[in-house]
Amino acid sequence: MAKMIINGQKVNAVQGGLLDVVSPIDGKVFTEIPRGQREDVDLAVKAARQSLSSDWGNFDPLGRSRLMLELGVAILENLDELADLEMKDTGKPLATARADITVLARYFEYYGGAADKVLGQVIPYLNDYSVQVIREPLGVTAHIIPWNYPAQMFGRSVAPSLAMGNACVVKPAEDACLSIVRVAELALEVGFPAGALNVVTGLGEEAGASLAEHPDINFISFTGSNQVGVFIQQAAAKHAVKCVLELGGKSAHVVFEDAKFGPAIAAIVKGIVHNTGQTCTAGSRLLLQASIYDEFMQELGKEFSKTRAGTPEMDLTCGPVINKNQFDRVNGYIEKGIAQNLKVVAQGQIADGVPADGYFVTPTLFSAPDHTSELLTEEIFGPVLVAVPFKDEEEAIALANATDYGLLGAVWTENGGRQMRMAKGIQAGQVYINGFGAGGGIELPFGGVKRSGHGREKGLVALEEMSTTKTIVLFHGK
Ligand code: ADP
Repeated sequence: MAKMIINGQKVNAVQGGLLDVVSPIDGKVFTEIPRGQREDVDLAVKAARQSLSSDWGNFDPLGRSRLMLELGVAILENLDELADLEMKDTGKPLATARADITVLARYFEYYGGAADKVLGQVIPYLNDYSVQVIREPLGVTAHIIPWNYPAQMFGRSVAPSLAMGNACVVKPAEDACLSIVRVAELALEVGFPAGALNVVTGLGEEAGASLAEHPDINFISFTGSNQVGVFIQQAAAKHAVKCVLELGGKSAHVVFEDAKFGPAIAAIVKGIVHNTGQTCTAGSRLLLQASIYDEFMQELGKEFSKTRAGTPEMDLTCGPVINKNQFDRVNGYIEKGIAQNLKVVAQGQIADGVPADGYFVTPTLFSAPDHTSELLTEEIFGPVLVAVPFKDEEEAIALANATDYGLLGAVWTENGGRQMRMAKGIQAGQVYINGFGAGGGIELPFGGVKRSGHGREKGLVALEEMSTTKTIVLFHGK
């Protein structure tokens, strides 16, 4: 059974409560985790605060860099174990779980390498003054992590924060937290001092809410649902701390008649079925120029119907979705699409022999006559893709922007001018041209506009989000 990591110790919850962890593969309880509460969060925040004025706070940038790089190596050395935990917890195909763990290591390599290269500024000012701008840590940073990519999201949120010298308190998702707990143990093994990195497991409304509302945190990083994101921002506002929110998307592929069909089709299928569609950046809408609509859909349908959902060991396209709630939700959307007379163009299959009580859903490709169905505007978070035709560039941009979300977009065309016009017209934090890069790409600034959230992660910009500037103005006379 996993324990929490608080102040360098592996501990149970103060009140001793436990939560069942259910396998999405067969719906059965396979382990338990501590049910952290307000007092556990309090201990973790205290430990983090204390570490800033003692051990961890005394590390210089090179020291932080070396430790982070060592953790990156330790993650790769323990890849089999970490991938196994991730696979059991989330039901991901083994190959996906392994890829996720290598991305986790990459976060520590990337930000470990950057920790001692964050430069300040010297600003020309009045003759009698010298001015420098230095970067300082924010203090205690809170990280509330979702269940879809536990290991990757942990790396994305925590690595830049540690690189900048903050101390972290992490609340992983109750549905999938085992890899995160193990990485925090590895961090202790490679020499991270007590309190630099704390993990409190538990429910969102208990441990999560207590952390977000804690008066002694200085920053919140949250990835998850829109509804909880609003609560997080309100909690942050109460103590006037900054938050970075990544709240999902409804990203569109926009395919023009001059696009190369082959690469577009491969990327479109992968972009919606990878991780069983449980990816904030999933390409979950397909806008297709009317002149190629039927031909493209026919070819896309052929590829889409090859998708298979199965157990992680089967290593197929998809695993199960994470829990019963999501299972009902995704199937509910598929039923709604059928009830609304959207056309089912193709469906993948659930492999023979999967456990009857597993949360496997059938990948489904719909065609819609127009953009009115809520399947085109709401985030389904499953392997469900809906296509809709458009006439010209102007309509394509209008439809691409016709959701509350704005996380990613992809444009498929060989016309250079159109590539840039579309990239500029689409309201999103990232736009791909003739490609699609959901997940990975840790070097690339990432985040949303509109209801997809605000703030930026990944890339060097995350180091700015996780730190603040101090301007030092020295008057030295003539
Ligand atoms: P989903 O709906 O996809 O499960 P959530 O937004 O509910 O996503 O969960 C994302 C993360 O936010 C999880 O770690 C979850 O425990 C946490 N969480 C859920 N509710 C709250 C809350 N009220 N306060 C803080 N964290 C929460």
